[in-house]
Amino acid sequence: MANTSPTPSLPFNRSFIEQVIADHPTPLVLYYEDGIRRRARELSDAFAWNEGFQQYFAVKATPNPHIVAMMAEEGSGADCSSVAELITCERLGITGHDVMFTSNNTTVEEFAVAARLGAIINLDTPHHIDQLQQLDALPEMVSFRFNPGPERQGNVIIGDPKEAKFGCTREQIFEGYARCAELGITRFGLHAMVVSNELNVDALLQTAEMLFELAVQIHERTGVAVECINLGGGIGVAYGPNQEAVNLQEFGRGVQSLYESKLVPAGLAPVRLMMENGRAMTGPFGFLVTQVINQKTSYKNYVGVDACMSNLMRPGMYGAYHHISVLGKEQEPATQTVDVVGSLCENNDKFAVDRELPATEVGDIIVVHDAGAHGHSMGFQYNGRLRSAEVLYNDAGEVREIRRAETIDDYFATVDFDTVKVAQQRTATSGQPS
Ligand SMILES: *Cc1c(COP(=O)(O)O)cnc(C)c1O
Repeated sequence: MANTSPTPSLPFNRSFIEQVIADHPTPLVLYYEDGIRRRARELSDAFAWNEGFQQYFAVKATPNPHIVAMMAEEGSGADCSSVAELITCERLGITGHDVMFTSNNTTVEEFAVAARLGAIINLDTPHHIDQLQQLDALPEMVSFRFNPGPERQGNVIIGDPKEAKFGCTREQIFEGYARCAELGITRFGLHAMVVSNELNVDALLQTAEMLFELAVQIHERTGVAVECINLGGGIGVAYGPNQEAVNLQEFGRGVQSLYESKLVPAGLAPVRLMMENGRAMTGPFGFLVTQVINQKTSYKNYVGVDACMSNLMRPGMYGAYHHISVLGKEQEPATQTVDVVGSLCENNDKFAVDRELPATEVGDIIVVHDAGAHGHSMGFQYNGRLRSAEVLYNDAGEVREIRRAETIDDYFATVDFDTVKVAQQRTATSGQPS
């Protein structure tokens, strides 16, 4: 009997994974290189009509240098929001306007690193201009991040815009450009990041429309003509059953018609468009590979695996749905309803709740789909859990470890047992009340 579950099929089979885990024990994250590269090209193709279109990979999604380098090979820049992300780019030789710095609650020291790289800087608030003035020189190009507040609705990941800590109001934007122009800055961009994980093309297009109209208003109010408009990231991943990935060609064509109806008549064209997608570029091409280590039934049925939410916290953090496959049993009927859980002492340490799966046994290999973005990168060491290895494979059959698993020595690397002593050794009995 065919499995009626709408779980998509995996691009690999059980024997391939058995070979991989023989060298790289579970849990691990496995990335599919050709999928990532193809997706990067699909996005640039969708915007080929726009001279100078540039995607900046949002490094935070998958901050592995091998992945960031692969994106650069495919023509992407890098979108960073911290010093560590900037240094990742610097060490890969990705500098200048190939780097975008989109931060919030930023320090002067962070701006100094972005300026050292020659990055395009997106300002989150007019106050950031004061901070830029403390640098040796003002950056040559400045861009502001717009937050439309009550004009737009966000979503669970990025929040409701009027409750969101990011970006400036319309009035602050006008003042900001005017002030930068007075300071002698001559090159300007405009930026927004309003939705995240959005699968609806119309909602994505609303951001383009909003920014194109704002660019026209900025020009009317301040005389500043922006030379680039950054639509942000936010293209979603079809994580759930019956969801469909965004058709990038359709999205690109939609943006093109808005460009032609809003920017061209206002005399603002040509404008270079930019995006800073993270999730859609790597999310679908990463797989968390884990093994069943325990099964139990108490008030519910549990399948315990050797990964935990520190390997992928989206389900625990947002209640996010991820498809789960039991390798080699994809065609078997779902005969049990289970929670798939890790071993953290936190009850939201679950990859799935009330999921229908084929019968499982200890040793089965479980694959959590769409774990390539905000998976390993959101990892943590709570409860003494160690971050897993990251492994890349490709159509040529190459399998390459791009980050080793943490060891127990890594875990203890930041403390020094030599300087600790237990002041008064308590024995089991001396601790008892008398
Ligand atoms: C996280 C983030 C992105 C990437 O978002 P995705 O939803 O992963 O595409 C882009 N820009 C900024 C400023 C971000 O914070």
